[in-house]
Amino acid sequence: MAYRMHESVKNRLTLVSYRLPVRFSVAAGRLEVKQSTGGLATALSSYFDEEGSHSHELRWMGVCDISEEKYRSAQRDPSAGDRLNSLHPVFIESRVGDLFYNGFCNSVLWPLFHYFPSFVVYDDTYFAAYRKANQVVADEILATYREGDIIWIHDYHFMLLPGMLRRRIPEVCIGFFLHIPFPSYELFRVLPRNWQREIMSGLLGADVVGFHTADYTMHFRESLSRTLHLKVTPEGVPYQGRTVRMRPFPIGIDFRRFSEVANTSAVRKEVQKIRERFRASKLVLSVDRLDYTKAIVNRLESFELFLKLNPKYREKATYLLLLVPTRDSILKYRENKLIVETLIGRINGLYGTLNWTPIIYQYRSLDFPKLVALYGASHIALITPLRDGMNLVAKEFVASRPEADGVLILSDAAGCANELQQAIIVNPFDRHEIAEAIRLAMEQPLEDQRRRIQAMQEHLHHHDVRRWVEEFLMSLEPQLSP
Ligand code: UDP
Repeated sequence: MAYRMHESVKNRLTLVSYRLPVRFSVAAGRLEVKQSTGGLATALSSYFDEEGSHSHELRWMGVCDISEEKYRSAQRDPSAGDRLNSLHPVFIESRVGDLFYNGFCNSVLWPLFHYFPSFVVYDDTYFAAYRKANQVVADEILATYREGDIIWIHDYHFMLLPGMLRRRIPEVCIGFFLHIPFPSYELFRVLPRNWQREIMSGLLGADVVGFHTADYTMHFRESLSRTLHLKVTPEGVPYQGRTVRMRPFPIGIDFRRFSEVANTSAVRKEVQKIRERFRASKLVLSVDRLDYTKAIVNRLESFELFLKLNPKYREKATYLLLLVPTRDSILKYRENKLIVETLIGRINGLYGTLNWTPIIYQYRSLDFPKLVALYGASHIALITPLRDGMNLVAKEFVASRPEADGVLILSDAAGCANELQQAIIVNPFDRHEIAEAIRLAMEQPLEDQRRRIQAMQEHLHHHDVRRWVEEFLMSLEPQLSP
């Protein structure tokens, strides 16, 4: 791609995200380092790992998944060298870490920002831990700060951090990107007023605040004017002698990586094997963390309705449901898992035959080539979350189709629906609409499939993760001293 970061952006870059791009563990006294799964880590690492694609000295700060004592006393493999040196794990005491991550982040912010206000758990100790964890990270950045550093903070875990840094270093250059939706003010206002104000003024510590879509940006602007009574102009928000800018930056994927891996002979063979195994059926695929926002129950009920209304597709359609384990220390997640698994059992019991299991369910994560093979082997991707900041899986499915065939059914409440307009777009609450979309997808002529997938591939190719990183960093340029 001919897109290049501006030459002047050469300062040291600190990325801050909850997870590092690797997971640590200790076995037999040695530090083991494994690549993390998940959207953000994968997207950012694929950009920053590419030699020569950036001109920054990079360090990546995130919360360590093992204790400080374990981390420091473990032996290091000297061959892990450079990669480890650019990682900067931060240690948060385990009780605070739990109240911060499982508490405020994932039992308050996550459900509220995804329009599940009734799932929010109100507990003052959560917000206190959130503040404390943000302060631990702020202290770590401040202790190692060098003049000219650019700090790029990611996601809802660290919304207080920009303000904490700005108070101590008024000239610091900070970007903040939110990877989940920013909800309508009608949701945000549910939080206690002092939390609302603290979060908003925390975010205004940044120079640029980025979102996936224009809607999230608009909601943020409205919440700013309603909570802090600030005047929001088209250029941004004047705040404490600076102007804070905000705008959408829809994240892309590493398009090239998916399309290249999809074309390797190993993946092609695997695709062939899966297709052979399901010869009699067209495959419908879903890949999601087992999160209530992904609305797996609605999808299952919609698939059941499709089978009920279209008996000719019984034994001719199989639903491959890959659910990735997530946050299972939170009750709502465990409850959801039970409901989903009960429903799968009921539908399979009702419709299954000796020759056919309607729903094939796996509860695990897959390695990259296996995932790409599943994307390639399926006929339809069924992606209908009730709310989703972006949804990378939808983009990955489209990128992994070397013959440009296949059909994407996509929720209108996923951030990527703005970009993937050639998908069959559905209301994720409407089971009848989804069932009908499955039927339409089954019957979509090949020519039509190709026209749509090609148009989406073109878009994803030109708006990949490299472009996303570069556009975001370039937006910070006016803040950098020459
Ligand atoms: N993913 C993965 N292993 C799997 C299944 C999925 O690493 O077995 C990745 C997938 O490739 C995607 C991410 O998990 O990049 C999920 O991101 P998405 O935006 O779709 O949803 P999120 O989990 O962030 O809500």
